[in-house]
Amino acid sequence: MSDCLFCKISAGEIPAEVIYRDDDCVAFRDIAPKAPVHLLVIPHKHIENLYDLKEEDAELMSRLLLTLPRIARQQGLDQGFRTVTNTGHGGGQEVFHLHFHLLGGGSLHSL
Ligand code: IMP
Repeated sequence: MSDCLFCKISAGEIPAEVIYRDDDCVAFRDIAPKAPVHLLVIPHKHIENLYDLKEEDAELMSRLLLTLPRIARQQGLDQGFRTVTNTGHGGGQEVFHLHFHLLGGGSLHSL
């Protein structure tokens, strides 16, 4: 989508601190980190949020989920990490391109 911030980051049109990239997704540092490690993992494909997922996205999402713990390990988060996905205004979503917050490196309170 032409006016989507995360599509532009995915395409390299807006700078970001990218720490991982493959054919499905890109991971970059959140601009306002809420933990010592705070990454955003996004599919290249523009999907607004979990409500916008289609059956055809199942394999992509499966691969993306499998990538999360690999990225976490690369970041040294051997003790664990948290993933958060905000969906819609009611879920606190601000950027309407599906993303997984990957947080860790400190003591996170249980939800
Ligand atoms: P949401 O509330 O789940 O949509 O989270 C959006 C996240 O994107 C927030 O944690 C923001 O700090 C982050 N963010 C917004 N703009 C940028 C950017 O340009 N680069 C990196 N992270 C961003």
